[in-house]
Amino acid sequence: MNERAFHFVFADRFDPTAVARAKAVGRVTELDGSDAAGLALALADADALLVRTATKVTRDVIAISPKLRVIGRGGVGLDHIDLDAATKRDITVVHTPGAATESVADLTLGLMLSLVRDLRAGDRAARNDHYRAFRTEQRVRELHELTVGIIGMGRIGRAVARRCRVGFGCRVIYHDIVEAGLMAVAAEPVARDTLFQTADVISLHVPLTDATRGMIDAAALSYVRPGAMLINTSRGAVVESAALAQALCEHRVAGAALDVLDVEPPPADHPLLLAPNCILTPHVGARSILALSRMNDVVDDVIRVLEGKRPLFPYVSETA
Ligand code: NAD
Repeated sequence: MNERAFHFVFADRFDPTAVARAKAVGRVTELDGSDAAGLALALADADALLVRTATKVTRDVIAISPKLRVIGRGGVGLDHIDLDAATKRDITVVHTPGAATESVADLTLGLMLSLVRDLRAGDRAARNDHYRAFRTEQRVRELHELTVGIIGMGRIGRAVARRCRVGFGCRVIYHDIVEAGLMAVAAEPVARDTLFQTADVISLHVPLTDATRGMIDAAALSYVRPGAMLINTSRGAVVESAALAQALCEHRVAGAALDVLDVEPPPADHPLLLAPNCILTPHVGARSILALSRMNDVVDDVIRVLEGKRPLFPYVSETA
């Protein structure tokens, strides 16, 4: 064991190669994201805390970490870290903002094609006696006919826009709270309600904030055009599950594809488990080999902070 002072706590599972990089410069405690008692014990003298998605870094977690200097988030989205509490304690937060962009955009297009072509029903029909009936009855639209409405034109939103516009020839409209600036592909900014009323496919790419929590509620869903479809690969709590389930049951929304849910994994009575034409995936947007490897690189930034060097991807508070 390396006797240098740094104690790294990996609260969630990271790749062994990433853990080895920490071991080369210090001592390591590895946990699996569910061991609260083990976490509390380890944090008593931790210099660095590394998390993925499972471990919530609350004010209380920070309070029981007297020596903590850096929190490393392997992934995108900092909504499960109390950034305010970390900033007040002068704890640096580093993350991997662009790691999953292409991977999430790929999944989004996969979900879009699955919804538009009804691939799940086709697969079922091909294996049973609905084979001929499904084929005879299917009438679908081609992707180039569709208007795709992107909410949140950041890294992932742009990667989705590029695929939709350049790859499939869709019309792309978007809504964002900040000006998007120069865009690599033709996409038209619109008001949020206009997007709801115009888009055939609505795709969510916003962070989870006070403003986006519950953004897709019953009121928003009452605006969407008949036959519209919703894709959420951002954060589950952006969508009010009960309202979406109701809209699907009443066929006001033709289909939904969700990589993220407000409760993960969903309990057996989650309203979207029984909703019609709803595709669910278990939060796999970032699970490409390349994205995971980029997320492991957060260890290097954590080491940079501990060694007094400037990190590559620090979180910077908007009020700083
Ligand atoms: P980003 O910061 O580059 O883009 C987010 C965009 O949303 C920004 O342009 C921002 O201005 C905009 N926005 C913020 N609040 C808004 C609001 N109220 N209305 C409209 N627009 C708003 O982030 P990104 O890298 O594109 O990632 C987006 C989100 O995707 C992440 O925050 C994360 O929650 C989620 N994500 C999910 C997975 C997954 O596994 N499914 C993986 C990575 C990221």
